[in-house]
Amino acid sequence: MFLGHFAVALAAKRAAPRASLGVLVGAAQLLDLIWPPLVLAGVEQVRIEPGNTAFTPLNFVSYPYSHSLLTSAVWAAIAAGAYWVASRYLRGAVVVALAVVSHWLLDFLTHRPDLPLYPGSGGCAGLGLWNSVPATVIVEGLMFAAGVWLYAAGTVARRRAGAIGLWSLVAFLAVIYVMNIAGGAPPSAQAVAGAGMAIYLLVAWAWWFDGRREVTGA
Ligand SMILES: [Zn+2]
Repeated sequence: MFLGHFAVALAAKRAAPRASLGVLVGAAQLLDLIWPPLVLAGVEQVRIEPGNTAFTPLNFVSYPYSHSLLTSAVWAAIAAGAYWVASRYLRGAVVVALAVVSHWLLDFLTHRPDLPLYPGSGGCAGLGLWNSVPATVIVEGLMFAAGVWLYAAGTVARRRAGAIGLWSLVAFLAVIYVMNIAGGAPPSAQAVAGAGMAIYLLVAWAWWFDGRREVTGA
Protein backbone atom coordinates (compact mmCIF):
# COMPACT_ATOMS: atom_id res chain seq x y z
CA MET A 1 0.00 0.00 0.00
CA PHE A 2 1.17 3.54 -0.65
CA LEU A 3 -1.52 6.24 -0.31
CA GLY A 4 -3.18 4.33 2.53
CA HIS A 5 -0.16 4.84 4.78
CA PHE A 6 -0.31 8.60 4.21
CA ALA A 7 -4.05 8.46 4.93
CA VAL A 8 -3.31 6.94 8.34
CA ALA A 9 -0.74 9.65 9.11
CA LEU A 10 -3.12 12.46 8.09
CA ALA A 11 -5.97 11.00 10.15
CA ALA A 12 -3.64 10.39 13.12
CA LYS A 13 -3.17 14.15 13.49
CA ARG A 14 -6.71 14.19 14.91
CA ALA A 15 -5.73 11.60 17.51
CA ALA A 16 -2.47 13.36 18.47
CA PRO A 17 -2.87 17.04 17.52
CA ARG A 18 0.41 18.11 19.13
CA ALA A 19 2.46 15.62 17.11
CA SER A 20 3.94 16.95 13.89
CA LEU A 21 2.56 15.44 10.71
CA GLY A 22 6.20 14.73 9.83
CA VAL A 23 6.45 12.43 12.86
CA LEU A 24 3.15 10.76 11.97
CA VAL A 25 4.16 10.19 8.33
CA GLY A 26 7.48 8.83 9.55
CA ALA A 27 5.64 6.44 11.87
CA ALA A 28 3.05 5.24 9.35
CA GLN A 29 5.85 4.78 6.77
CA LEU A 30 8.58 3.59 9.13
CA LEU A 31 8.75 0.09 7.64
CA ASP A 32 9.12 1.59 4.15
CA LEU A 33 11.83 3.92 5.49
CA ILE A 34 13.76 0.96 6.89
CA TRP A 35 13.27 -1.17 3.76
CA PRO A 36 15.18 0.74 1.00
CA PRO A 37 18.56 0.88 2.81
CA LEU A 38 18.26 -2.84 3.62
CA VAL A 39 17.56 -3.62 -0.05
CA LEU A 40 20.48 -1.45 -1.18
CA ALA A 41 22.70 -3.23 1.36
CA GLY A 42 21.56 -6.62 0.06
CA VAL A 43 20.08 -7.65 3.42
CA GLU A 44 16.53 -7.79 2.03
CA GLN A 45 15.54 -8.74 -1.52
CA VAL A 46 12.99 -7.53 -4.04
CA ARG A 47 12.72 -8.73 -7.64
CA ILE A 48 11.08 -7.12 -10.66
CA GLU A 49 8.45 -9.56 -11.87
CA PRO A 50 5.65 -8.02 -13.99
CA GLY A 51 2.32 -9.63 -13.11
CA ASN A 52 3.40 -10.69 -9.61
CA THR A 53 0.10 -9.11 -8.62
CA ALA A 54 -2.15 -7.07 -10.91
CA PHE A 55 -1.15 -3.89 -9.09
CA THR A 56 2.62 -4.18 -8.73
CA PRO A 57 5.49 -5.80 -10.64
CA LEU A 58 7.44 -6.16 -7.38
CA ASN A 59 8.11 -9.58 -5.91
CA PHE A 60 8.99 -9.03 -2.26
CA VAL A 61 11.30 -12.04 -2.04
CA SER A 62 12.57 -11.43 1.48
CA TYR A 63 12.01 -8.61 3.96
CA PRO A 64 12.04 -10.17 7.42
CA TYR A 65 13.51 -7.20 9.28
CA SER A 66 11.58 -4.31 7.80
CA HIS A 67 8.25 -6.06 7.25
CA SER A 68 7.61 -8.93 9.67
CA LEU A 69 4.82 -8.60 12.21
CA LEU A 70 7.22 -9.19 15.10
CA THR A 71 9.85 -6.66 13.99
CA SER A 72 7.04 -4.17 13.26
CA ALA A 73 6.09 -4.35 16.92
CA VAL A 74 9.75 -3.85 17.87
CA TRP A 75 10.09 -0.83 15.53
CA ALA A 76 6.85 0.55 16.99
CA ALA A 77 8.19 0.26 20.56
CA ILE A 78 11.50 1.90 19.62
CA ALA A 79 9.82 4.72 17.68
CA ALA A 80 7.25 5.38 20.42
CA GLY A 81 9.94 5.29 23.11
CA ALA A 82 12.18 7.69 21.20
CA TYR A 83 9.27 10.05 20.54
CA TRP A 84 8.21 9.98 24.20
CA VAL A 85 11.76 10.77 25.36
CA ALA A 86 11.97 13.66 22.90
CA SER A 87 8.49 15.10 23.46
CA ARG A 88 7.07 13.74 26.78
CA TYR A 89 3.80 13.60 24.85
CA LEU A 90 2.39 10.22 25.89
CA ARG A 91 -0.67 10.39 23.68
CA GLY A 92 1.57 11.16 20.72
CA ALA A 93 3.85 8.22 21.57
CA VAL A 94 0.89 5.82 21.69
CA VAL A 95 -0.36 7.11 18.33
CA VAL A 96 3.16 6.72 16.88
CA ALA A 97 3.24 3.07 18.00
CA LEU A 98 -0.20 2.37 16.50
CA ALA A 99 0.76 4.13 13.24
CA VAL A 100 3.91 1.99 12.89
CA VAL A 101 1.94 -1.25 13.36
CA SER A 102 -0.82 0.01 11.04
CA HIS A 103 1.72 -0.18 8.22
CA TRP A 104 2.03 -3.95 8.60
CA LEU A 105 -1.75 -4.36 8.86
CA LEU A 106 -2.38 -2.35 5.67
CA ASP A 107 0.37 -4.23 3.84
CA PHE A 108 -1.26 -7.45 5.12
CA LEU A 109 -4.48 -6.32 3.44
CA THR A 110 -2.80 -5.49 0.13
CA HIS A 111 0.15 -7.85 -0.43
CA ARG A 112 -0.15 -11.39 -1.69
CA PRO A 113 0.94 -13.81 1.06
CA ASP A 114 4.57 -12.65 1.20
CA LEU A 115 4.72 -10.96 4.60
CA PRO A 116 6.65 -12.80 7.33
CA LEU A 117 5.23 -13.07 10.84
CA TYR A 118 8.76 -13.09 12.30
CA PRO A 119 12.28 -13.32 10.83
CA GLY A 120 12.71 -16.88 9.65
CA SER A 121 9.00 -17.61 9.30
CA GLY A 122 9.12 -17.16 5.53
CA GLY A 123 6.57 -15.04 3.69
CA CYS A 124 3.09 -16.31 4.46
CA ALA A 125 0.66 -13.50 5.33
CA GLY A 126 -1.27 -11.27 2.94
CA LEU A 127 -4.87 -10.96 1.80
CA GLY A 128 -4.01 -9.91 -1.76
CA LEU A 129 -6.02 -6.75 -2.42
CA TRP A 130 -3.33 -6.02 -5.05
CA ASN A 131 -4.75 -8.84 -7.19
CA SER A 132 -7.37 -6.29 -8.26
CA VAL A 133 -6.33 -2.86 -9.54
CA PRO A 134 -9.87 -1.36 -9.29
CA ALA A 135 -10.37 -2.65 -5.74
CA THR A 136 -6.94 -1.32 -4.69
CA VAL A 137 -7.58 2.10 -6.20
CA ILE A 138 -11.05 2.36 -4.64
CA VAL A 139 -9.90 1.32 -1.14
CA GLU A 140 -6.76 3.48 -1.18
CA GLY A 141 -8.47 6.41 -2.89
CA LEU A 142 -11.26 6.51 -0.32
CA MET A 143 -8.80 6.16 2.56
CA PHE A 144 -6.61 8.94 1.18
CA ALA A 145 -9.58 11.27 0.58
CA ALA A 146 -10.80 10.67 4.14
CA GLY A 147 -7.31 11.28 5.57
CA VAL A 148 -6.84 14.50 3.62
CA TRP A 149 -10.27 15.70 4.67
CA LEU A 150 -9.66 14.94 8.37
CA TYR A 151 -6.31 16.75 8.32
CA ALA A 152 -7.42 19.72 6.23
CA ALA A 153 -10.60 20.24 8.28
CA GLY A 154 -8.76 19.86 11.59
CA THR A 155 -5.95 22.33 10.86
CA VAL A 156 -5.68 25.76 9.30
CA ALA A 157 -2.77 27.40 7.52
CA ARG A 158 -1.11 30.14 9.56
CA ARG A 159 0.82 31.20 6.49
CA ARG A 160 0.40 30.62 2.79
CA ALA A 161 3.17 28.04 2.92
CA GLY A 162 0.98 25.92 5.19
CA ALA A 163 -1.67 25.67 2.48
CA ILE A 164 0.70 25.39 -0.49
CA GLY A 165 2.75 22.71 1.28
CA LEU A 166 -0.27 20.56 2.08
CA TRP A 167 -1.96 20.72 -1.30
CA SER A 168 1.25 20.29 -3.26
CA LEU A 169 2.00 17.12 -1.25
CA VAL A 170 -1.51 15.79 -1.89
CA ALA A 171 -1.17 16.50 -5.63
CA PHE A 172 2.34 15.04 -5.75
CA LEU A 173 1.25 11.79 -4.07
CA ALA A 174 -1.77 11.46 -6.36
CA VAL A 175 0.41 11.97 -9.46
CA ILE A 176 3.02 9.45 -8.27
CA TYR A 177 0.22 6.95 -7.61
CA VAL A 178 -1.27 7.30 -11.10
CA MET A 179 2.20 7.16 -12.71
CA ASN A 180 2.91 3.98 -10.78
CA ILE A 181 -0.23 2.33 -12.13
CA ALA A 182 0.17 3.61 -15.70
CA GLY A 183 3.95 3.25 -15.96
CA GLY A 184 5.90 0.15 -16.86
CA ALA A 185 8.01 -1.99 -14.56
CA PRO A 186 11.02 -0.27 -12.97
CA PRO A 187 14.44 -1.18 -14.41
CA SER A 188 15.93 -2.79 -11.31
CA ALA A 189 15.52 -3.54 -7.62
CA GLN A 190 18.19 -0.89 -6.95
CA ALA A 191 16.08 1.68 -8.79
CA VAL A 192 13.03 0.75 -6.71
CA ALA A 193 14.98 1.06 -3.46
CA GLY A 194 16.57 4.31 -4.62
CA ALA A 195 13.16 5.81 -5.42
CA GLY A 196 11.93 4.52 -2.07
CA MET A 197 14.47 6.73 -0.33
CA ALA A 198 12.32 9.68 -1.46
CA ILE A 199 9.98 8.87 1.42
CA TYR A 200 12.56 10.51 3.70
CA LEU A 201 11.98 13.75 1.79
CA LEU A 202 8.20 13.37 2.14
CA VAL A 203 8.62 13.12 5.94
CA ALA A 204 10.59 16.39 5.89
CA TRP A 205 8.02 17.97 3.57
CA ALA A 206 5.13 17.04 5.93
CA TRP A 207 7.09 18.27 8.95
CA TRP A 208 7.79 21.57 7.20
CA PHE A 209 4.23 22.53 6.23
CA ASP A 210 2.63 21.10 9.39
CA GLY A 211 4.66 23.64 11.35
CA ARG A 212 3.00 26.35 9.29
CA ARG A 213 -0.51 25.18 10.15
CA GLU A 214 -2.28 25.06 13.49
CA VAL A 215 -4.89 22.75 14.91
CA THR A 216 -8.29 24.44 14.84
CA GLY A 217 -9.82 25.06 18.26
CA ALA A 218 -6.40 24.77 19.91
ZN1 LIG B 1 5.49 -1.49 3.35
